[in-house]
Amino acid sequence: MKIAVFPGSFDPITNGHIDILKRAIKLFDKIIVLVAVNPEKKTTLSLEERVETIKEATKDIPNLEIDFTSGLTVAYAKEHGATYLIRGLRNEKDFEFESELMAANKAIDSSIETVFFIADEQDIEISSSRVKELLKSGHDISKLVPKNILEKMK
Ligand code: ADP
Repeated sequence: MKIAVFPGSFDPITNGHIDILKRAIKLFDKIIVLVAVNPEKKTTLSLEERVETIKEATKDIPNLEIDFTSGLTVAYAKEHGATYLIRGLRNEKDFEFESELMAANKAIDSSIETVFFIADEQDIEISSSRVKELLKSGHDISKLVPKNILEKMK
């Protein structure tokens, strides 16, 4: 069984994340969307809110599980029989950051492979932080996030 973990902050989940999941699930038997718990990183949505909103926003995508961890992603993957990590790439900055992250994860556990999805053209400018900035300045975010996030973030 091919199990992958899609780790992230998901503060909040965006249409960019959803697109990656819809494309990735065609390649794996199961994907675990893993919310990273980082006490040093201040988030807008609480851990519970992030888990709940992801569940609601992804309910039409089959074979997904939503979970969280405060530990290392690779350790979580190993414990749950996952041998792939999924990450998204939007630009050169992502490429640089994600290459380093992949190397760091490889150094910890070389049996886990990171698989990258290049963002769909229409999602290239979407990030959770941009969504929050736009919202603060009163802009419309309805094209950037799932419906339930729109309601939640109001
Ligand atoms: P993290 O804090 O781990 O970067 P994010 O929730 O911001 O968590 O992102 C999780 C993953 O999703 C990252 O690999 C990121 O590059 C990717 N991602 C974020 N937004 C998009 C998008 N619009 N299109 C494709 N991938 C994206």
